[in-house]
Amino acid sequence: MFWVDQIVEQIVKSGKYKPYWVDDMKTPSGRVHVGALRGVVIHDLIYKALLSRGEKAKYTYVFEDHDPMDDVPSYLDREKFEPFLGMPLFKIPSPVEGYENYARYYAADFQKVFNAIGSTPEIIWTKDLYTNGLMNPMIKDVLDNASKVRKIYEEMYDKKLPDDWYPFQLYCPNCGKVSTTQVIDWDGKLVTFECVVDKVKWTKGCGEKGKASPFSGDGKIVGKMPWKVEWPVKWKAIGVTIEGAGKDHMSKGGSHDLASEVAKRVLNYPVPFPIPYEWILIGGRKMSSSRGVGIAASDMLEILPPELIRFLIVRIKVNTQINFDPSEPNTIANLFDDYQKAADAYFKKDGSDIARIFELSQIGDQIKHPPSVRFSVLAQWVQMPNMEPEIKKNNLEDWATYARNWIEKYAPENEKFTVQKNIPQKAKELSDNQRKALRQIANEIDNKRSPEDFQIKIYDIGKSLGLNGKETFAAIYLSLLGKDYGPKAAWLILSLDKEFVKKRFSDV
Ligand SMILES: [Zn+2]
Repeated sequence: MFWVDQIVEQIVKSGKYKPYWVDDMKTPSGRVHVGALRGVVIHDLIYKALLSRGEKAKYTYVFEDHDPMDDVPSYLDREKFEPFLGMPLFKIPSPVEGYENYARYYAADFQKVFNAIGSTPEIIWTKDLYTNGLMNPMIKDVLDNASKVRKIYEEMYDKKLPDDWYPFQLYCPNCGKVSTTQVIDWDGKLVTFECVVDKVKWTKGCGEKGKASPFSGDGKIVGKMPWKVEWPVKWKAIGVTIEGAGKDHMSKGGSHDLASEVAKRVLNYPVPFPIPYEWILIGGRKMSSSRGVGIAASDMLEILPPELIRFLIVRIKVNTQINFDPSEPNTIANLFDDYQKAADAYFKKDGSDIARIFELSQIGDQIKHPPSVRFSVLAQWVQMPNMEPEIKKNNLEDWATYARNWIEKYAPENEKFTVQKNIPQKAKELSDNQRKALRQIANEIDNKRSPEDFQIKIYDIGKSLGLNGKETFAAIYLSLLGKDYGPKAAWLILSLDKEFVKKRFSDV
């Protein structure tokens, strides 16, 4: 059974997770890296598989816009954003005009991608969960049960927390920062807080002290819980019953374990069905959004068509790493080839997993036939000057865009070629028989033939002059491209202006 169907089978059979509410989340602290797409797609697949079994389900995506900025991403102006360190992301201006705030800008950049690849969860902003008052009952729970929460932390991390540690942080009413404040007392109505000057290394607190209500509402937000406590609180506030996370959160003693204990012992809320999943590695490395290395999710839209981005994720089991490195010579072309094979399996109705993978990689309800021309061939066609009509005729314009981008950004040198305006230096190395062959080939250009027949004719001409295939074709490549290799010769010649080729073949 295909992995998605297996997970859904398990969820449904257990009878424990109704009503089905699938949820995923991300802090938009900068450009969201490609790895986060895996979570979105996995949850989307579970959600849709539930629907297709006739179950009722919901799928939400939470953007944690109230988290503080703890670092300035390398691609932003450090001086401009440093003053905002420690402040919640929704209070920081967007780096690009036209967005309400910092969090909204990076969330939109990420949402654009997951919408494009067919995942359209309902968006929830954590700030709104607070400002709507939904978190208040649980804020009271965790403050009233602060000793239980401390105990859970102690059990988990084997480290005693001070008795005046509380699982809540106020936004400082004086400086607006949240990373610097701490609550040291709770009387059932008000918390006593301090904005500690040296609480964190990367920004300073202002020293403010006082008492305040920890409850948000009426459109206002006054503070937040630490993330690991807030996670289960969010489950309860929304009603989440299914939520996976990357393996870093899901490891033993990790944040999911702590969140689960808080859910059970403090909030009395059942732990949602967990789906631990592996990362997407780029060139063997896990990428970080804040450091700006690697590939942002939104970059993927230039590298692959949406259905192939989905395919890349759908085809790998949740517990297996996905390695994706577009700069490796064959990564992209192989992915396109595999996609075409999956399509074949699907249209043959062979009932295989790969057919199901193809089906689940489609965007929307329509199943699209992919082109039958291979990506490697297309990558050659887009480099030939007169192949546009052929590309159009075969409905390849969509994939051709990705082929051009691949040639420009990732293709190894031996995949690239340019027809030279002048006779290449290297053409001087041609033997007399190679030159003779070129002249005879030039004489055949005007005869109407299919590229296949013309390719054979070229080979035969060379043979009649005592040349092997390699020598014959090298003559063509050297005189046109200045390299001794290239795309299929007949197609290359026929894609060019006939007079230009005839002149070149007689001039060399
Ligand atoms: Zn302060």
